[in-house]
Amino acid sequence: MADGHPMYLWWNGERRRWEDATVHVTDLGWSTVGAVFEGIRAYWNDEDGELYVFRLQEHMERLARSMKLVRLPLEYSVDALIGEIIGLLQANETREDTYIRPLAYAGNTSGKRFAQLGNEAELLINTHPMPSHLLTGLTQTAKISSWRRISDTVMPPRIKNLSNYRNGQLAGQEARLDGYDTAFLINDQGKVAEAPGACVMLVRDGKLITPDATSSILESITRDALMTLAREVLEIEVVERQVDRTELYLADEVFTCGTAAEITPIVSVDKYDIGAGEPGPITRGLEQAFHDALRGKEERFSHWRTPVGISVAVPA
Ligand SMILES: *Cc1c(COP(=O)(O)O)cnc(C)c1O
Repeated sequence: MADGHPMYLWWNGERRRWEDATVHVTDLGWSTVGAVFEGIRAYWNDEDGELYVFRLQEHMERLARSMKLVRLPLEYSVDALIGEIIGLLQANETREDTYIRPLAYAGNTSGKRFAQLGNEAELLINTHPMPSHLLTGLTQTAKISSWRRISDTVMPPRIKNLSNYRNGQLAGQEARLDGYDTAFLINDQGKVAEAPGACVMLVRDGKLITPDATSSILESITRDALMTLAREVLEIEVVERQVDRTELYLADEVFTCGTAAEITPIVSVDKYDIGAGEPGPITRGLEQAFHDALRGKEERFSHWRTPVGISVAVPA
């Protein structure tokens, strides 16, 4: 770390010093309208002296799918990019919980209109520290947003396209101004979709329920992992289906999930207490199982973790 940022990032095929990665101000504008990104976490395990990247392969495959959908050309293989990310974390000697953000955007945009963009892609991968809030007792209150979730007839909700985030940002701002921590967005079918940047799960009668993949949700890797942990560790039933707004009010437990959100228990929705107004047993159990899987305390899910090999000496 130098001046609060890592020493290196990766940009357009090369590892570069942080200070050397600059663009001209006239490149601002349309370059990120069609941009897509990934958000990936790496977790430090002190006992092992090792940094584990969570589901790196799946995240990079999703980046490739996102780029395909917005028609940005990807000039690297997923395997090559995985190698570059590992190399970057080694070069930065990352020994703390970290967020990794690959970002693909239109290149050579200066002086062009947005309709002309997208034949050339630039690719940036940078990292910054992001401590985990798992098992810290963080909870949030939520409201149902007056903003609807974008639908597949308008924008592609299932991919991490930067333009989509105006939707969640409006909902999040509204919620905070109204005195809540976060929001749930209803989709154009009138069903529950997501929170800003996070998926939603609820528990009722001992079952884990989550909006299905055609409810205008992002295809979340955390959601997938938690469904697996619920079935295999907690041994409870998991149901993917449309969810009504009033099911949230009557749920025994509600939480949001995602790479950034990890698991965040929701203790009230529109001032209806969820269960006893505190995180319930299934949320707590999943939080522990998820923590153990991603930090490398549980051998069973080792295929989800890529060890960086941080303790090994790094070639200059
Ligand atoms: C990233 C994201 C999620 C969570 O996806 P993960 O793969 O679990 O990180 C959920 N919703 C939106 C809108 C997102 O951008």
